Amino acid sequence: MADTQSVVSDVKLFLERLKKEMPEIFGPTEKAGTTVNTETSAPTENKVLYNGDLFEARVYLTPDQEEGVAFDGQVFHVYLQNKESNPSALVTQWLRDKAAEVLPQKTKEWAEKIGVEYNNVVLKDQRTLWASCSGKKNINYSYRIIKMPRVVQDYLVIHELCHLKFMNHGAEYWELVAQFSPDYKLHRRWLNEHKDAVFEEVKLTISAQDSASIPTESTPGN
Ligand SMILES: [Zn+2]
Repeated sequence: MADTQSVVSDVKLFLERLKKEMPEIFGPTEKAGTTVNTETSAPTENKVLYNGDLFEARVYLTPDQEEGVAFDGQVFHVYLQNKESNPSALVTQWLRDKAAEVLPQKTKEWAEKIGVEYNNVVLKDQRTLWASCSGKKNINYSYRIIKMPRVVQDYLVIHELCHLKFMNHGAEYWELVAQFSPDYKLHRRWLNEHKDAVFEEVKLTISAQDSASIPTESTPGN
């Protein structure tokens, strides 16, 4: 009995340590997204995390316009045709589309610099992984990576591509990573500290004020 218990606690300790040492393997803590964290949910109200910054989102009721999202570099403008439309789903789709555009491009560029060849880039929404690399040389990413600062996005891409040379996390592997991402330790720390925020779902509401003020200068699309 005592032995079994100590083995269990050893495994727990090992996993805790691994979580600290390998933040890119594990996503957020399991409860993230299901419990309400008043500290983080309050300030992110009608904010969108994108490229590591929190941007304001304005939701408009515009029955005569096509539904869509326009990002002007400062503000996410979300156009809804009726009050039943879901602004959070529209912005989430916008982030997925952006990830589908940016991550394959980054992978192509870094693979050329590192000198490796891969098969396919696949976007997923895994709960436990930000990125992974398969034996068939497929690189998998969570679309949520697009919410991270660009340097951290690059680090995750480099991390996976370097596995095409070393399928482990040995000293040689990290030396290779450091060649292309010299500040990788900082990026790993960022991941560790912000994984819950990155994992958090977009939560937008339509306010009476927003629905009254219909902008004329911006149009959906982008
Ligand atoms: Zn790895």
